[in-house]
Amino acid sequence: MNWLLPRLLAGAFAMAAGGFIGYLGGAPLQAPVIGALLGGSLGVGLLALVDTLRGYRLIHWLSGTQEGPAPRDAGFWGEIGYRVERSIRNREKSMALEQTRLAQFLSAMEASPNGVLLLDEADQITWCNSIAADHFGLDPTRDRRQRVTNLVRAPAFVAYLQAGQYAEPVSIPEPRGRGTLSVLVREYGEGLKLVLSQDVTARERSDAMRRDFVANVSHEIRTPLTVLSGFIETMSSLPLTEVERRRVLSLMGQQTQRMQTLVSDLLTLAQLEGGPRPPSDRWVSVGKLLSQAHADAVALSMGRHQFNVSDADGAQLAGTESELMSSIVNLATNAVRYTPEGGRIGMSWRVRDDGSGEVTVSDTGIGVAREHIPRLTERFYRVDGSRSRETGGTGLGLSIVKHVVQRHGGELDVQSEPGKGSSFCLIFPAARVRIVEPAPDPKRFTRSGDQAVSN
Ligand code: ADP
Repeated sequence: MNWLLPRLLAGAFAMAAGGFIGYLGGAPLQAPVIGALLGGSLGVGLLALVDTLRGYRLIHWLSGTQEGPAPRDAGFWGEIGYRVERSIRNREKSMALEQTRLAQFLSAMEASPNGVLLLDEADQITWCNSIAADHFGLDPTRDRRQRVTNLVRAPAFVAYLQAGQYAEPVSIPEPRGRGTLSVLVREYGEGLKLVLSQDVTARERSDAMRRDFVANVSHEIRTPLTVLSGFIETMSSLPLTEVERRRVLSLMGQQTQRMQTLVSDLLTLAQLEGGPRPPSDRWVSVGKLLSQAHADAVALSMGRHQFNVSDADGAQLAGTESELMSSIVNLATNAVRYTPEGGRIGMSWRVRDDGSGEVTVSDTGIGVAREHIPRLTERFYRVDGSRSRETGGTGLGLSIVKHVVQRHGGELDVQSEPGKGSSFCLIFPAARVRIVEPAPDPKRFTRSGDQAVSN
C-alpha cells in the first residue's frame, strides 16, 4: 500500500497547488474562489492526464509480448507494472520448469524398452514413443489426434480396447506380419488410456522350440524304452533258448547304448549352452585333434573307407580341447556313417589368407539335398531318420558342432551334393589360430649343433 498515500498526497497537492494558483490568478479579477476552483480542477485534471498516460503505457506493454521490462513509473502504475511483471515472470519460470519436466518424462518414456501409446477419452493418439510407432506402424507426428482403431485394425486389439477389460494383455499379430505383440492397456485420469506393447516374437519362438525339444526328447527316449520293455516282457513270459536269450540281450544292450548316447549328447548341449566362453589363451594342437578324429573314424569304419588326413603344420587353435575334439570327431564319424563302403573321407587343415583357419571333413558319401542344408544343425533334424538311427545317430551331432564353433567365434560351412558327397568346414577366426614351429627333435642334432643324418 506504499503507493496509496503518495497518490492521495499527489492528488491533494495538485488540487491545492492548482487552487492556490487559481486563487492568485482570480484575485485581480475579483473572483478568487472561482479561480481557486478552476485552478484546483485543472491541477487534478493534469494529474489525471499524467495518470492516463502512465496507464496507457502499461496497457500497451501488457498487450505486447511482455518481453522487455514493464514501464518503470513511480507510484500507482509503477506498482501495478512491477507486480504484473513479477507474476508474469514467475508464471513463465514455472511453465519452463513444467516443460522441462514434461520433456524429461517423455524422454524417459521414449527410453522404455516397451512401446508406450497415450490415448485420450475418444481413443485418439496423444503421444507415442518410437517403439510403439514401430510396433503399430504409426507416424508419431502425422498420426497424432487420429483414432487408434482407425490405424491399428487388428480385430483382437479393437475388440480388447472396446471390451474395457484390461486385466490381461492381448496378443496381436504385428501389423507388418513380422511377429507377435503383447498389448496391455491401463486406464488413468478421466477416461485416458496408456497402451503398452511388447514384442514377444522371440519369446514365443523359444517357447515353441522348448515345446518341440521336450516332445522330441520324449519321443527319442520312448522308442528304445518301448523296445526294451517288449524284450523284458518276452524274456519273462517265454522260455528262450540260450541263443535267443543272447540275441535279445544284445538287442537290449543296443537300445540302452542308444539312450546313453542320447543323454550324453543332451548333457553336452546343456553344458555348451550354460558353460563359460572358451578360453582364448589355451592352445590345442590341430594335429592332435585330427589324429584323434581319424582314429575314431577308422575304428567306426572297420576298413570300409579310405582316409586321407592332411598335415596340420604346427597349427594350434585357442579354446576348449574337449569341445573342439567332440566337434571334429562328430564330423568325422558322420562322414563314415553317411558314406557307403569304398568311399573316401578327407580331413584337412588350412590357414586362409585373412589368417583364419579351417578344418574340413569331406566325404564321397550320400550327400544332402540343398533344401535340407540350412536345417541340418537344428536339434533332432535328420534327412533320413532311419539311416541316422541305424547308425547310432541322435540327431544332435551337428547341433553340437555348430554350438562349439560359434562359441569359439567361428562358423560352420556346409557344401553338399546328393550322391556325390559333402564337405563340412569349421572356420575359426584369426585371433584363435596360431602356428608354432615344431620343437627341434634333440635326436636330430649332434652335440656341436650340426644337423645329423636322419634315419
Ligand atoms: P545324426 O545323429 O542324425 O547324424 P547329426 O546332427 O550329426 O545327426 O546330423 C544331422 C543330419 O545331417 C543327419 O541325420 C544326416 O541326415 C545329415 N548328415 C550329417 N552328416 C552328413 C554327411 N557327412 N553326409 C550326408 N548327410 C549328413
